[in-house]
Order: sequence, then structure tokens, then C-alpha cells
Amino acid sequence: TFLTFEGGEGAGKTTVIEAIAAWLKASGYEVVTTREPGGIQIAEKIRSVILDPSHTSMEERTEALLYAAARRQHLVEKVTPALEAGRIVLCDRFIDSSLAYQGYARGIGIEEIWNLNAFAIGDRMPELTFLLDIDPHIGLQRIYQNNEREINRLDMEKLDFHEKVREGYRKLATRFPERIVVVDASQDVEGVLQTIQHVIKTRMNL
Ligand code: C5P
Ligand code: MG
Repeated sequence: TFLTFEGGEGAGKTTVIEAIAAWLKASGYEVVTTREPGGIQIAEKIRSVILDPSHTSMEERTEALLYAAARRQHLVEKVTPALEAGRIVLCDRFIDSSLAYQGYARGIGIEEIWNLNAFAIGDRMPELTFLLDIDPHIGLQRIYQNNEREINRLDMEKLDFHEKVREGYRKLATRFPERIVVVDASQDVEGVLQTIQHVIKTRMNL
């Protein structure tokens, strides 16, 4: 079973994945948690190239290609073997991140990014995707509170971009209503977890 978790900054994906993994393990399932971009050595290296703040000239299609390359290697090296061994894989980000960030927010186009990623992943898609949906004002505020920092002017300028990412994700949820479950991530963690657990129990036969 392949489950992915999506959402913008500060939506709480990492916390939620850890808690859901613990919950599934307590019921006796074998669970693998992983993240994109990264999860294995080659993909972590690609991640550090993409996210290196000194790479200010990285063009958006180059970025999209690197995400897709990291995705393929992570898929063949880690995700697919785990799924074939009967494990439940919980992945922090997958194709919908590229569709929302590069396809929609960066403006390359959702179809273009879809085609690029079809090359990278073949027909492997998650059975369910949880979109942790949150107003980026709140999401970013959470991040800065945790880091004991205030949102400064520079960060506020990026809000536009994060609003677009959210809009892109919501469009995807409308387009793939069977697969993508929108979860209100402005609730406290307990509420988010209860919602997700309920969906997993009723939809996945776990
Ligand atoms: O999930 P995480 O917060 O670790 O993602 C790292 C960074 O990569 C984030 O800042 C996110 O905005 C960015 N990202 C992106 N396009 C993707 C995936 C992640 O811009 N397809
Ligand atoms: Mg995270």
C-alpha cells in the first residue's frame, strides 16, 4: 500500500507521517516512511543541489527535471521494493508536489509536469494521497514560531508563491477526487490524525 502526504510549508506532514506510521505499526503492519526529494543517497544529493540557496540561477525546467530524476531513483531503489515486500509505504511528497509547485505555482503547466513525471514513475501511483491543506500565513507562522523567529518582509514576499502552491494542490484534489483526500491542517494534530485514521480504516481495508 502506497500512501503519500502533500501540502505546503508548515502543514505538518512530517509530524503526521510519524504518528500514522506508529499507529499502523502498533496494529502489526510493516511500515516504511520516506520523503521526497531524498529518501536514498542519490536522491538526497539531488535534493541538496536543488535546495542549495547559492544556486540562484536554477531555471524552473531544470528544477523540474531534477525533482523527477530524484523521484525515479527513490522509487526504484526504495519505494517499489518495499511495496513488493508487502510493506505500507508512507511518503512525504510525491508527484503532486511537482504538479503543484513546478506545474502550477512556477507556471510550467500541470500537463507538462505530468508528462515528465509519467516518464519517471511509469504507472506507479499512490492509492491515497492526503493533502494537508492550510493557509500559508498559518503554515509559515508555525515554522517561524518553532524557530523562534518572526516572519520578516522577505518571507512575506514569498506568500504569493505559497498561495499559488495551495491553489494548485486544491485544483489537483478536484481533478483526482478518488485519490486525493483534503484534510484541514489548521486543526490541532489530534484532529488531523483522527481524520486520516478514519479514512485509512474505511478506504484501505487495513
Ligand atoms: O518537504 P520539504 O519541506 O522538506 O521540501 C523542501 C523544499 O522543497 C520546500 O521548501 C518546498 O517548498 C520545496 N519543493 C519544491 N518543489 C517540489 C517539492 C519541494 O519547490 N516539487
Ligand atoms: Mg516536512
